[in-house]
Amino acid sequence: MSKLAKQFIDIVLPPRCLSCGVITEATHQLCATCWKDVRFITDPLCHCCGLPFSYTIDSDDDAVMLCAGCMRDRPNFNKNRTVMVYDDASRSMVLSYKHGDRIDATPGFSAWMGKSGRQLIEACDYITPVPLHRRRLFQRRYNQSALLAKDLSKKSGKPYIAQMLIRHKHTPPQGRLSTNQRHDNVKGAFSINQKKHSIKGKSILLIDDVYTTGATLKECTKTLLKAGVKTVNCLTLARVIKEES
Ligand SMILES: [Zn+2]
Ligand SMILES: [Zn+2]
Repeated sequence: MSKLAKQFIDIVLPPRCLSCGVITEATHQLCATCWKDVRFITDPLCHCCGLPFSYTIDSDDDAVMLCAGCMRDRPNFNKNRTVMVYDDASRSMVLSYKHGDRIDATPGFSAWMGKSGRQLIEACDYITPVPLHRRRLFQRRYNQSALLAKDLSKKSGKPYIAQMLIRHKHTPPQGRLSTNQRHDNVKGAFSINQKKHSIKGKSILLIDDVYTTGATLKECTKTLLKAGVKTVNCLTLARVIKEES
């Protein structure tokens, strides 16, 4: 786009904060107030699931750098990394992306994901989203995770496969379910839809918007590993964190 055309668009449609909607200087960014409130996840964190630690552990030993959950029951995916904590500061941003047609946030979110998941992107052969069931896709009209995955592919040059996985089971929303109920809810919900590309022995990067208990990502991983995929890494936009009491 020419500079003039961009200036014109900026006058007609000035860039707005991804969260609160006030006019900002740059496109696809947060205003200073929202920036301050959003909790971006950085080191130190669990080497496997990416859960942030509130303290630093001075060790290069991978086993030491695991959270209690991963130590107890190591996920089947290799690693997960997440951009930000899902809390009061990020909730409306994530929900309006999912349900409110704020798909203009895609380039901003995917740029953040590109930073948080740089190593995972470099290591992958293909990028693919957690799929929606076709009935839900029809209701929502778009799969927010697919928009993110596609944009990450465009920015990184790593190939995007739209429907590597199919969600053939329509599951109720996971909103108020416990960890165990979530695992049961998504059990057997996915199958492989891979005719054109061989995914055997490949490294896959799975994209989802919210990491809650990891149940959905683990079920997708199980399906991919069964199909002969070598490694699965996950990259997510926001993560629910239960505060230790
Ligand atoms: Zn704002
Ligand atoms: Zn962990």
